[in-house]
Amino acid sequence: MKITPIIASRFVSDGGSMFGLVPKPIWAKLIPPDDRNGIPQNANVLLVELDDGRKGLFDTGCGDPAAFSDKELALHRMTRDWPLMNALQALDIPPEAIEFVALTHLHWDHAGGVGTMATDGSTTLHFPNAVHYMHEQEWADANAGDPLLYKSYPADTIAPLHQVPESKRVLVRDEKPDILPGIRMMRSGGHTRGHCVIHLEGDSIELAHPDATDFGPLRRLMFSGDVCPTRHHLRLVFQTAYDTYPLDTRRWKREWLPRAASDGTALFFDHDPDACAARIQADERKEYTASRILRTREKKG
Ligand SMILES: [Zn+2]
Repeated sequence: MKITPIIASRFVSDGGSMFGLVPKPIWAKLIPPDDRNGIPQNANVLLVELDDGRKGLFDTGCGDPAAFSDKELALHRMTRDWPLMNALQALDIPPEAIEFVALTHLHWDHAGGVGTMATDGSTTLHFPNAVHYMHEQEWADANAGDPLLYKSYPADTIAPLHQVPESKRVLVRDEKPDILPGIRMMRSGGHTRGHCVIHLEGDSIELAHPDATDFGPLRRLMFSGDVCPTRHHLRLVFQTAYDTYPLDTRRWKREWLPRAASDGTALFFDHDPDACAARIQADERKEYTASRILRTREKKG
């Protein structure tokens, strides 16, 4: 198995919303905000190539900026270029060659790259040949129209998923988390009720990254989605204000971070602006800290 970290999108989020209960004087030291309280965010995704040659993605980022209004682009401070497609093109992988897409949850900045909805309501899929995996609870909540889930699942994110033929839209159940060889989608809940952490395991996982040798042999990785979006979210109460079931995010950390620290599992951070993954270690004062960091590969200029 070979994995390649990719920056799918770059945007800016409100720093307070990303750190929930944490007072600004503390989080502002971790990721310094700009004059509008915004902090830079990546949508870091993972390109996965299985031993049998199948290629796929874990999460898809925010989607095609060309489909965004000027107002939306200004709100998220996004530009018109689309890093995900640029990266796949640079790797010589056409979107049609992507055979699976596993989605941690169905928020716009994770499932937005699945497809586009035009103003007339018609939809286009960006990975037309892919099997799309998502948790059955997440799919149910995204389509429930529950006003309590205020703005969580906008139509332009969810409508393209309805275009995926049912045979290629796989709803993952808790009892059957294995989706592909070495890959399981385990429901964490927390950020959303159906949020999944994607576990990847293999005897020899090849990491396509210039610092792969320093990062050391990789046998287990958790693509932790938004229950641990950056390396600054390892502490129990450092969680986003977007979490719909906050205590479940804490439960997930209490269960899985000690395991990751003891068995060398790498954590993959979907929103960290400059580290896509790290090994972690227990810390008396800070609970857990990143011990070995894999920097995101920024393409400058
Ligand atoms: Zn997110």
